[in-house]
Amino acid sequence: MIQKAFKYRFFPTDEQSAQLARTFGCARFVYNQALEFRSKAWQREKKSIGYHDTALKLTEWKQEPDKAFLSEVSSVVLQQSLRNLDTAFTNFFEKRAQYPKFKSRRHRQSIRYATNAFTFRDGRIILAKQSEPLDIVWSRPLPNEAKILNLTISRDTSGRYFVSILVEVAVKPLKKTRAEVGIDVGVKTLATTSEGEKIENPRRLVKCEKRLQILQRRLSRKVKDSNNRKKARIRVAKLHARISDARRDTLQKFTTKIISENQAIYVEGLNVVGMVKNHNLAKHIADAAFGEIFRELEYKAAWYGRTYLQPDKFFPSSKLCSSCGHLLEELPLCVREWDCPSCSVHHDRDLNAAINIKKAGQYLLKLRKTTGWDARKVTPTRDERRRSA
Ligand SMILES: [Zn+2]
Repeated sequence: MIQKAFKYRFFPTDEQSAQLARTFGCARFVYNQALEFRSKAWQREKKSIGYHDTALKLTEWKQEPDKAFLSEVSSVVLQQSLRNLDTAFTNFFEKRAQYPKFKSRRHRQSIRYATNAFTFRDGRIILAKQSEPLDIVWSRPLPNEAKILNLTISRDTSGRYFVSILVEVAVKPLKKTRAEVGIDVGVKTLATTSEGEKIENPRRLVKCEKRLQILQRRLSRKVKDSNNRKKARIRVAKLHARISDARRDTLQKFTTKIISENQAIYVEGLNVVGMVKNHNLAKHIADAAFGEIFRELEYKAAWYGRTYLQPDKFFPSSKLCSSCGHLLEELPLCVREWDCPSCSVHHDRDLNAAINIKKAGQYLLKLRKTTGWDARKVTPTRDERRRSA
């Protein structure tokens, strides 16, 4: 069983943001009151106050006419605020942190909801004292089988809202296998494995992306602050969400398959992302996909006891012949297939790169195991690579 937090941005309605503002305020008030209560008890009577005493105190405060506003928000959230204070004191007593400070309204605000203070059904989260579900941007998938432990709602200083979902997931160890794989990521083909498998962008995704380009062009022509612009923006946002859902689905399936079938996974360093970075929309989307592939492979590898390694980002995986080790001077991006001038083997550009990444990864892993050297910072020379191959 492992605990993992998944953080997403969300956009509250006016009603929700007002309700959250009240809850932030009350949680802060309770935290500061309890801090003062605990501090005074210690200073005056050398009496140590714990969570339980502050919780009783909270019940008293709620009865006081000038603190009646405390009853308007979720009591669970206020109790969680007292638990946070208790943790802050524990950290102080165990010399891990400084003495707890009063919370200010000018800083980042955060409140925690235990499981009895929200509902989660069909991917919709409704907080206590609220009627509508949160409008969450599901930027990464929440594992289906996850058990939710709690939620933290926060608002940063620039006014953005986030929900962090702490989940407990059971990790069934996967059977060990001898298979290993190298993965090359690209714009045309999303991913190519050293075993010759190619993951293409789904057809409906390509269609959606074209449509998105059109919608965005239309949006940019609309008059600022106009009603039409607002409508156009909503249309773009909706399509954006649909595209990222479809892409996430494809990537999820791919990374799950890769992890379940291979003991070690080697992927290209992140410089490919830099390589395609420009203002073209399709490439911008591919960019995000790379990050998602890497992130998913990395955390899934950690969960299931697989090895995940990124060879050096300057490793010339594309220009190197995987059969004889000949290094081309250059290989323009438009060239999808080529013949090695040295051994005349015919190469598919992406497959050749994936094979090289696998070889380099295996070499680096061996190096790390035998020397303890941080392999990620090392690139083998051509001769070393040949000898290890
Ligand atoms: Zn060759």
